[in-house]
Amino acid sequence: MRKIALTCGAGLLLVCFALPLQTVNSARTPPPQRSTMSADIADSDEFFQRTIRSAGPTRDHKQRIESLIKQMTLEEKVGQMTQLQIGMITSGHNQTIAIDPAKLEKAIVKYGVGSILNVSDEALTVDKWHRIIGQIQEAATRKTRLGIPVIYGIDSIHGANYVQGATLFPQEIGMAATWNPELMKRAAEISASETRAAGIPWTFSPVLDIGRQPLWPRFWETFGEDPYLAKVMGVAFVRGMEGSDVSSQDHVASCLKHYMGYSFPLTGRDRTHAWIPENYLREYFLPTFEAAVKANARTVMINSGEINGVPGHVNHHILTDILRSELGFEGFVVSDWEDIKKLVNIWRIAATEKEATRLAVMAGIDMSMVPSDYSFSDHLIALVKEGAVPQSRIDEAVRRILRVKFELGLFENPMPNPALKSKVGLSESRAVSLEAARESMTLLKNTDNLLPLSKSRKVLITGPTADSLISLNNGWTYVWQGSEESLYPKDRHTIRRAIEEKIGQGNVSYVPGTKITRPANSTSNNTPTDQEEEVDIPAAVRAAQNADVVVLCLGEGSYTETPGNITDLNLGEPQVKLAEAIYATGKPVVMVLVEGRPRIINRIADRAKAILLAYNPSNEGGTAIADVLFGDYNPNGKLPFTYPRTPNGLITYDHKPFETENTAFGNLAFKPQFEFGEGLSYTTFKYSDLRLDKTTINPNDELAVTLLVANSGSRAGKEIVQVYVSDLVASLSPPIKRLRRFAKIHLEPGQSKTLTFRLRREDFSFIGTNNKPVVEPGDFEVSVGGFTQRFTLK
Ligand code: BGC
Repeated sequence: MRKIALTCGAGLLLVCFALPLQTVNSARTPPPQRSTMSADIADSDEFFQRTIRSAGPTRDHKQRIESLIKQMTLEEKVGQMTQLQIGMITSGHNQTIAIDPAKLEKAIVKYGVGSILNVSDEALTVDKWHRIIGQIQEAATRKTRLGIPVIYGIDSIHGANYVQGATLFPQEIGMAATWNPELMKRAAEISASETRAAGIPWTFSPVLDIGRQPLWPRFWETFGEDPYLAKVMGVAFVRGMEGSDVSSQDHVASCLKHYMGYSFPLTGRDRTHAWIPENYLREYFLPTFEAAVKANARTVMINSGEINGVPGHVNHHILTDILRSELGFEGFVVSDWEDIKKLVNIWRIAATEKEATRLAVMAGIDMSMVPSDYSFSDHLIALVKEGAVPQSRIDEAVRRILRVKFELGLFENPMPNPALKSKVGLSESRAVSLEAARESMTLLKNTDNLLPLSKSRKVLITGPTADSLISLNNGWTYVWQGSEESLYPKDRHTIRRAIEEKIGQGNVSYVPGTKITRPANSTSNNTPTDQEEEVDIPAAVRAAQNADVVVLCLGEGSYTETPGNITDLNLGEPQVKLAEAIYATGKPVVMVLVEGRPRIINRIADRAKAILLAYNPSNEGGTAIADVLFGDYNPNGKLPFTYPRTPNGLITYDHKPFETENTAFGNLAFKPQFEFGEGLSYTTFKYSDLRLDKTTINPNDELAVTLLVANSGSRAGKEIVQVYVSDLVASLSPPIKRLRRFAKIHLEPGQSKTLTFRLRREDFSFIGTNNKPVVEPGDFEVSVGGFTQRFTLK
């Protein structure tokens, strides 16, 4: 045994005993594959600054827009502001869906509807999309007076998930765990190209909400709890989607959602109220949107909830003062699903839908996702005629919508292009998805270097997520809730299949132990989704007795939005029972968590020898998990959120110092199950020589932070280096630290790299009670990899 130092990015220096690395790694496993596509991110700021400015020049369409506005009637203008769901123009279900000519005529010709969205039930083939969109565009461009094309919008959340055969990627929470914005950009480029290939030029992504409330059922749709990591990843997403020429056949308009504060409901339930003072809104929830607007994102979707009693859809301050006047957003704003109606029947801030329509349009909504009737058009036309909504506000909204349509090239090329079909589901794209899934894998525990496992060991695979592509994908996969087994590709590997493939069926036994099911009608908005039950725990125990090691696959099924609401963050009781029964056999257990939010595992975490968090890695996830478990890939993901230990211990990494330091808290002090930024490797990294170029700076000075990182183990690997800044005393009580920079670097054994990060004024500032950035003199600390240096700001 020899003593090695394992550094983990959260700043801990863990000292532990391990077998000599040579024995652990090289004898049993082939060398890890080097990434072919993701180069080092040596400085997140360099990537961010370069990427945010990478939007190409936009053509000026002013004349054509003004000429159309002059010719348009009020009815035609309001039509442009109306968005309906696909069922309003089709009949049939699933694959039998087809355009209904009478419905199409009513929507597109009579009402002049400017946008259609969504799938009716499930993902369609490219050919089907081409037929549907072709017919819509034909009606819009040939049968209406002015021939304005429709902008079709869809939720391409983790790839073109409503296009059959498309490449799917890890959900955003997993992409965040890669800390690799270059990879995020590449994944978004592929999503864009495969969405556009279906004839769809607009996607409702990325989600730029900040995941600081783990109960929230859309937690996994976010880039996690930290605004800096989320903004770097968000800008990468937008630029990948929109490219340098959004009119090209490879790109689509993005939609930043859900602007803003949606993700932090007091109760943890979807679409409920939040209390967030404006300075905190600006500190934590605005930066992602601000950066993505600067990156030239074309559209924004609004928070379905309410903040401080004001529903997102009537919040003039947020929708107009901040978004337009302050951030300079020039694209258009779309409501979320039925949200004008909800102002009446949920939020009760308007007595009638007509009044709700007035409030929303005057607050800054340019397009209403109505989406299932014509009420919005009828009300808005009446409101303008009565003088309750000025014509100028309508013109402003229509100009914005037309501009995006022009920028997308829809006037020149409204029709789907059959030649693009060949771009869907390419093997190169699938390789990027596998790369992303691998980079997201986060190894949180590896006692006695149990992992990587030898391929000759007898393995029992058990648990409800072991043989489920549904769990690997979660919501927004082929159907809204991701729950239709029959729609998943037959040639992708669940964890079980991937392990069988890797080590041979003879070495593997599989017993599910428990299962996660969902009621038949669970797509209804009010039905809770997953139910868990025991299947055959005694059989799993018997199988464990004949195995060398148990891979225990726990976690969640699939869900999003209201159906995913839960009242208990604890992992389901049947799963805990299964884990305990397996532990009782004394066999070593590797716990693999496939889940969209951190379900509490404290009753069963300590007895697992290894824990791998896989998030929702999508269709290549089974392969990625098997690659990590058996050492064909060296894990390098780091947690993008704080993994709570107890259901009520929901404290983020950037908590107040006393949560950690107050000795009176005793056992209640901040002690999460796993820390933000944590994640192990099969090699070891050693940090040294942390230096600042100055010890005293003026507010506008740059501060250079330099350090050396070495691969001190025997295997190549990637490390995510995290730079935190702490303001030691401030007029608003400061958080213990904030992430300000990161790097993701590849190091061969024995190799080292010197990294330099340049911090600026904004990295030392916070949003004061006047809602503006404040920089205050005093002492600060920079911490990286367990080392700290202090400086004074004059
Ligand atoms: C969700 C949005 C989504 C929209 C369209 C809403 O229920 O909140 O995120 O883009 O539906 O599907």
